[in-house]
Amino acid sequence: MTMPSKRPALLGGAPAFRPALPFLKPDVPDSEALRAPLRTAFKTGMLTNSRFVSELEGEVARRLGVPYCVAVSSCTAGLMIVLRALNLKGEVILPSFTFHATGHAVLWNGLRPVFVECDEVTLNVDSEEVERAIGPRTAAILAVHLFGNPAAVTALERIARRHRLPLIFDAAHALGSRAGRSFIGRFGTAEVFSMTPTKPLVAGEGGLVTTRDKELARRVRVGRNYGDPGTYDCEFSGLSARMAEFNAILALKGLARLSSGTKRRQAIARRYRERLGKLTGISFQKVRSGNSSTFKDFSIQIDPDSFGLTRDEVARALEAEGIQTRKYFWPPLHRQKIFATDGVSRRTGLSKTERISERVLSLPIYPSLSREAVERVSKAMAGIQANAKAIRRALVERRTDGNSR
Ligand SMILES: *Cc1c(COP(=O)(O)O)cnc(C)c1O
Repeated sequence: MTMPSKRPALLGGAPAFRPALPFLKPDVPDSEALRAPLRTAFKTGMLTNSRFVSELEGEVARRLGVPYCVAVSSCTAGLMIVLRALNLKGEVILPSFTFHATGHAVLWNGLRPVFVECDEVTLNVDSEEVERAIGPRTAAILAVHLFGNPAAVTALERIARRHRLPLIFDAAHALGSRAGRSFIGRFGTAEVFSMTPTKPLVAGEGGLVTTRDKELARRVRVGRNYGDPGTYDCEFSGLSARMAEFNAILALKGLARLSSGTKRRQAIARRYRERLGKLTGISFQKVRSGNSSTFKDFSIQIDPDSFGLTRDEVARALEAEGIQTRKYFWPPLHRQKIFATDGVSRRTGLSKTERISERVLSLPIYPSLSREAVERVSKAMAGIQANAKAIRRALVERRTDGNSR
């Protein structure tokens, strides 16, 4: 069965969406629900790192089944503090195919990033490549659950144990993901979540560090408070990275909808795959059987030869349809100037990572996205493919027009 398609907006058809379909709509509770707890915070005058922050920490730890959870001001700050609290020196092995903040945490600690390839099927770091990259200066492994898809937690834990290395997960996308029966948050030495408006649970701004290590949890608490254990004689140079009560209140209210929001995104992802899977040249990130992803993002890969258009051409054609997309993650870290100047990161070609980041495109996905909208995006995509040659010509003409103006 062929997919129903429409005449592309780039070729004079009506745009699929007017006004445009936003890439993202954060899933937030009704602001009325925040009133009562905010009143409490205002009345007591405790505006930061107080009752609601500890309530959030307790609730998240309980839900994920992990002994310790420490709230911080952001995921980046959480990663920075964890690496500092572990007192690392030398090199950290991490994927190049991730958001740049994963790498910032390494640079800020004066550690050297060693980028390795990702697996083309799961888009997560390739654990065999991780093990191959381990050398005498390796201080830690930093993996990512990309777009919510659990990394190869068991294999990575085995490698980390074998080489006696700490294993940290950037779990920015993965609050609510499961590896087997366990929630993400229980693996490695520590896992760090983000709660910005683009992430599954929204606190406005905020991060959560989870760990099974009591002493590490204590040091992260100290680290978010300048490194000051309460004596004014700092244990190490920490950050000012506490969470404000407002952010904790927002996240606590959001927790009630985390599971339904995740289920909704999973259903949208299934629908996209079913519809777009009918087109040639589109492939999808694979979630290993037994695992579940939050689908923080829905990422497709466009093979330019079999689809008929490059990722960038498709993105422009979708833009004309009023469909906002993102190139998550392009350019990969080892191609970004702050990371590329590093000798270690330049040593390897990372051809898989480069190919993937040239092909990825993230489509709108959020709990309030209707089934009808998913259908319309899919039809627009089918129309774009059916008219690939004319679209390429139209884009070339536009480029020439632009140059002559
Ligand atoms: C969003 C994100 C971060 C940073 O989160 P903040 O809370 O904004 O610091 C880190 N890593 C990844 C993979 C992200 O997507």
